[in-house]
Amino acid sequence: MLKLHPSVAGRQSALLHLAELFIVCHELGHFLNGDLENETRFCAVDGNPWLQRFEENQDHAIEYAADATGFGLLQEVLTTLPTAYTPQNALQSVIIVFNLFYLLTEGESHSHPNPRSRSVNIARKYFGEEFADTVQKSYDDPELLRSLFPQPESRSA
Ligand SMILES: [Zn+2]
Repeated sequence: MLKLHPSVAGRQSALLHLAELFIVCHELGHFLNGDLENETRFCAVDGNPWLQRFEENQDHAIEYAADATGFGLLQEVLTTLPTAYTPQNALQSVIIVFNLFYLLTEGESHSHPNPRSRSVNIARKYFGEEFADTVQKSYDDPELLRSLFPQPESRSA
């Protein structure tokens, strides 16, 4: 059994909370982008004529757009919290979310882009092309994540 230093446990917990918060912000992004206003995008759920579901965009454009809006929202929320989170912390949480989605979905689906491309897309929009390229390359070389997200001073045991 391992026991994490409280500062490490705190960072781990914060990133998980930010990851959950990003998912909520993504959904709000759909709302703010007007995705839910187009009635033609809703279709009946089989066997439940009283229930409709939102038909996802097949070219994935609205998912990328909701990611971008959601990431902007997440950064705004972070400025209201007493703990000092950085935009890099927010991106770390996004990478956590999309790596999890990648493991669950094994990539692109009919309705959603490849989760890894979603992380890279957000990195490109908010951190620039070079940063995004390094995020992309980190999927083949995870050590690159250390250059993108330097860790606080390591603690001696
Ligand atoms: Zn979505």
